[in-house]
Amino acid sequence: MAENSRIADFRNMSVAERRNAVADTTGLGTELFEQLDSNSFTPEDAADLSENIFGVFSLPLGVATNFTINGSDALVPMATEEASVIAAASNAARMARPKGGFFTSSTEPVMQAQIQLINVADPQAARTRVLERQAEIIDLANAQDPKLVEVGGGVKGLEVRLVEARTSTYVLVHLLVDVRDAMGANAVNTMAEAVSGTVAAIAGGDALLRILTNKADRRLSRARATFDKDLLGGEEVIDNILHAYELAAADPYRAATHNKGIMNGISAVVLATGNDTRAVEAGAHSHAVVDGRYTSLSTFEKNADGDLVGTLEMPMPVGLVGGATKVHPAARAALQIAEVASAQDLAEMIVAAGLAQNLAALRVLATEGVQRGHMSLHAKNLAASAGANAEETAIIVDRLIEERAFRFDRVQSILDELRSGVSR
Ligand code: NAD
Repeated sequence: MAENSRIADFRNMSVAERRNAVADTTGLGTELFEQLDSNSFTPEDAADLSENIFGVFSLPLGVATNFTINGSDALVPMATEEASVIAAASNAARMARPKGGFFTSSTEPVMQAQIQLINVADPQAARTRVLERQAEIIDLANAQDPKLVEVGGGVKGLEVRLVEARTSTYVLVHLLVDVRDAMGANAVNTMAEAVSGTVAAIAGGDALLRILTNKADRRLSRARATFDKDLLGGEEVIDNILHAYELAAADPYRAATHNKGIMNGISAVVLATGNDTRAVEAGAHSHAVVDGRYTSLSTFEKNADGDLVGTLEMPMPVGLVGGATKVHPAARAALQIAEVASAQDLAEMIVAAGLAQNLAALRVLATEGVQRGHMSLHAKNLAASAGANAEETAIIVDRLIEERAFRFDRVQSILDELRSGVSR
C-alpha cells in the first residue's frame, strides 16, 4: 500500500522529481523507471506478442494521486494520450478523501465460455442430457488446466441455454470458470475446445463456436464513493451533477458520452497494466444495456448529509498473469506501482478510477464546461504539433489563453513571429 497517495505539488514536479516521489511513496526503487528508459521492450520482444512488427509504440504513463481504496492509499497507474484524464481522476479522488475514499468489492473472478451446438433435433431434451452429465464434462475441462485448479480456480458450474435464432434453436453450453489471477480468455477457450466433442455427442448435434463470452457478467467489480459537498462546490453544483447524471440514465445519446468518460479512466489503467482494453470495453458495452436500453454504467444520488454518492458496477476481466502483463516492462512496472495482490484488487482499483473519472467529467460539465480546463493542455498540444520548442511553447500557450484563440493557424503565426524576431 502506498504510504500516502496525496503527493503535494506532484503535477508541478519535473519528471525526475515525480519518479522520486513515486519511488518514495511506494517504497520501490527508482531502478524501476531506469528499466523503462533502457529500451527494454524492443521490437524483437514485441514480435513475440503480435505480428508484422517493425517497432514499438509509446504512450504517456503516469499515476493518479489521492486515491484511498478500502482504507489503503494507492497510486493508480494510467497510460493515456488524452489531456486532462489523469489530472481529473486525481482531482475527483481528492474530493472523495474526506469521506474515506473508494469502497470496492467484486464477485469471484468467473469467466464463461460458450459452446454453440447446431443440428440438435431435440434442444429441450439435449439441454437436460448435458446437465445430467455435467460432472463428467467439468472434470474433462478441469483436466486441461491443472495449474489453474492448483491455484484454486477451475470450472465451478455449467449452464445450458436455448437461443431461438432465425433459422434454428441453438443449444449453448456455458462453462463457468473461476480464472483466479488471469484474464482467462485463453484458459476458458482451451477448455471449451477440449470438451466440445463430448458435449456435442451427449446433446446429439455438432459443436461450432467454442469461445469465451466478453459479456463477463459473472465477473463484476464495484466501487462506491461519497464526494464532499464543499469540495465539489456546494449544493447547486451537486444538483446540476445530478441533472447531468439523470440525463445519462434517460438518454442514450448522453449515456454514450457519460460512459466514455468512465472508460477514459478504465482503459488507461487497463492499458498501463498490460491488460486487454477491448475485452474490458466489450464487457462495458454489454453491461450498459439494461432491459434492451443503453444507459449509464454508474449511478449518482445525494445522501442524507447532502453529499454526492456515486457507484459503478461493471465487468472487469483483467489479470496479473497471462497476456502482456508479465512480458511488457512498462506493464510490470505499473503493476508494481499499483501494489495489487490479486486480479480482483486490480479490477477494483480500475473501477474506482472509472468512477473518479466519471465524477470529474460530470462536475466540469455541470460547472464551467470542458473547454476551459482543457485550454492550456490543448494549447500545448497545438504548439507541439507546430514544432515549437519548450521556450516557444510557453509563450504560445500564454498568448493563446490571453487571446482565447485555440487555432492552429494562430499558433503558426505566433511561431513565425517569434522566429523572425518580430515582437507583438
Ligand atoms: P494465459 O493463458 O496466458 O494465462 C492463464 C494461465 O496462467 C492459466 O490458464 C493458468 O494455467 C496459468 N496461471 C498461473 N498462475 C495463475 C494464477 N494465479 N491465476 C490464474 N491462472 C494462473 O492467459 P489468459 O488470461 O487465459 O488469456 C488472456 C489473453 O487472451 C489476453 O492476452 C487476451 O487479449 C487474449 N484473448 C482475448 C479474447 C477475448 O477477449 N475475446 C480471445 C482470445 C484471446
